[in-house]
Amino acid sequence: MTTLLEPGQIPQATGDAPRVLTPDAKDVFAHRARRFAQLAEGHPLGDYLRFMGRLAEAQQHALDAMPAVPVPDDAHESQSRQHGMPLVPAQSWPRDAAWRGALRAILNGVAPHANEAAAATLKALGAFDDAALEALADRVLRTELYGEHADKLPFVAAALQVYWTRLAARLGAAVQPLDVPGVCPCCGALPAVSVIGASPELPGLRYLHCSLCGTEWHMTRAQCTACDAGESAVAYQHIEGDKGLVQAETCDVCKSYLKLVRRDKDASADPVADDLATLALDILVDESGFSRSGPNLLLVPGGE
Ligand SMILES: [Zn+2]
Ligand SMILES: [Zn+2]
Repeated sequence: MTTLLEPGQIPQATGDAPRVLTPDAKDVFAHRARRFAQLAEGHPLGDYLRFMGRLAEAQQHALDAMPAVPVPDDAHESQSRQHGMPLVPAQSWPRDAAWRGALRAILNGVAPHANEAAAATLKALGAFDDAALEALADRVLRTELYGEHADKLPFVAAALQVYWTRLAARLGAAVQPLDVPGVCPCCGALPAVSVIGASPELPGLRYLHCSLCGTEWHMTRAQCTACDAGESAVAYQHIEGDKGLVQAETCDVCKSYLKLVRRDKDASADPVADDLATLALDILVDESGFSRSGPNLLLVPGGE
């Protein structure tokens, strides 16, 4: 016997869900700030996570205060589409000076909460001229997070995230999926993590979360995000006792991993905050010979 479903009863297929979700400029960093504060409670890195919460709060204020910035015109948009390119590529889009305004607002916003080491970093960064700041921005956007001034790069990255989030939110539905699934369709940056349950209406689907602009784009579950290897190559690891909210999806083919944040299990989870609160998982997976395929731009490599 066959049962016919009325159109309204057909379970939502992947094809019906949005392929691309651009960030909600009104709340994206405020949500993150609340999550950092929550994760800081009783956490061995509590002071660090609390400070990162202040940073996220300052990012939201900077975003709220950011003036309108130029976005691609129609000709640029259709040209990008024709060539399968992201609309505002991190490394070549002529970034507006507004990002430096965001940086100064962020430095002022977090200064009252900084410990001695962070205060020194903020002060040094505040004295940089525009050309030096642009050079640091170029480094962040090339994901060169090591070396001299590495301690300053998370703040530069925080301001660049604000600027690119503003662009992504403005572009909205103009951001269309690319043929290459591994990079952000809006800005071309690598994903920081992937998430299941990008919103309450999309409980089971997996999206990659852009490390720069916060755009999320759909990708099939149980598939390596770096080399496209299928289900038989991927495995999952998590830290005992954390209910599997954050897992590492490892790939046996290219030996990379990317974390997976289960927002379907806890809607308050945040891709960036939950990532930084589970650095112990990175250490565990690194030790088993996997290297992380996407950056968290707010992390100082080798420090915390
Ligand atoms: Zn992006
Ligand atoms: Zn792989």
